[in-house]
Amino acid sequence: SRVGPEGKKAMEVLPPLDHSSIDYPPFRKCFYEEHPEVTGMDWEEMLRYREEELQVQVEGRESCRPIVSFKHATGFSETLLREIVKRGFEAPTPIQAQALPLALAGRDVLGIAQTGSGKTLAFVWPAIVHLMDQAHIKRGDGPIVLILAPTRELASQIYVEATKFSKPHSAKVAAIFGGAGKWEQTKLLKEGVEILVATPGRLLELLKTKATNLKRCTLLVLDEADRMFDLGFEAQLHSVLGQIRPDRQTLLFSATFKRKVEKLANEVLRDPVRVVCGKAGQANEDVKQEVVVLPNDEAKYQWLAHRLPGLVREGKVLVFVSSKQGCEELAGRLMMLLQGDARASCLPPWKVEALHGDKDQHERSLIMRRFKQQQQQQQGEGGKE
Ligand code: AMP
Repeated sequence: SRVGPEGKKAMEVLPPLDHSSIDYPPFRKCFYEEHPEVTGMDWEEMLRYREEELQVQVEGRESCRPIVSFKHATGFSETLLREIVKRGFEAPTPIQAQALPLALAGRDVLGIAQTGSGKTLAFVWPAIVHLMDQAHIKRGDGPIVLILAPTRELASQIYVEATKFSKPHSAKVAAIFGGAGKWEQTKLLKEGVEILVATPGRLLELLKTKATNLKRCTLLVLDEADRMFDLGFEAQLHSVLGQIRPDRQTLLFSATFKRKVEKLANEVLRDPVRVVCGKAGQANEDVKQEVVVLPNDEAKYQWLAHRLPGLVREGKVLVFVSSKQGCEELAGRLMMLLQGDARASCLPPWKVEALHGDKDQHERSLIMRRFKQQQQQQQGEGGKE
């Protein structure tokens, strides 16, 4: 069987809890009331907006109408709205326009949307509304919102987005994933956090050591569910799901809708509304794609080496390779090439970095940070990605 980035060895799973023997307190799920401007929209006009402008398809019992502006997200607090404006977001993206009212109304949502669609905030914002309605976390309490992600990198990205919007609400967010210190993560969890972003393997480990529990978890988000399966997290995922009260709210996001995701959706979602953004598996229109087929690795290297100086002048370049060794080798060759080019044409000294699973988490995070910083500097200098 395939192993995940953390699942190097087979992991013992936790048996599901007997929820009928636990006295869970009631909690509020619905924070949404349709704004008169949304109600007032003519039915035909609403369908045109949803299908043509947003290019969103919706299936499910009594779905909500899409919203047009953030002011229509009626559950949002003044603080949250102010923060959204402060960050320069002018209007909801298509997935947000349709998924926000549903999530705020307490519905289970199956969102089929790509990275780059704004899906992270489509679940982070309703999550903040949801948790702000509940009693403060005490030491030893588990999280109110649990967000599961397949990889460390995705978990870190969600953590960063969630932190930006949680800070003004004084809500605590933590991210736990394999490769980072278990001791620190345990300490953090024991102090109590409201939003926990986690990869399934590491969460399961920490649940087993009782660093945390999911008794207070009332909102569960599964992000990039298709990749959870690709990375072999199925057993861990089910084990974690068995620890959360069945009457929770669940939001499931996936870029594709393969059979396994459909099966998972049937198991974990209750009376869901399915929101499909664009066509499942469709490429992002903002990305120009060109395919060049070359006969062998050396030809690929020559092709890349020839174009790289020009590409580097334009912005930044990501090169994907199929093996860790190949990654190191290519990085070494490119480093020499670019150094040579920098001297010849007075380019700034561009850096090449190799990123793969044999590097420890600290190093991987540093490399990612340097890559992002370079992006900001370039954007500041009028460069583009
Ligand atoms: P995601 O698909 O969640 O990875 O988001 C992609 C990017 O879109 C992130 O950098 C977000 O900060 C940004 N974003 C999210 N929502 C909006 C919005 N309504 N308007 C503009 N940018 C947004």
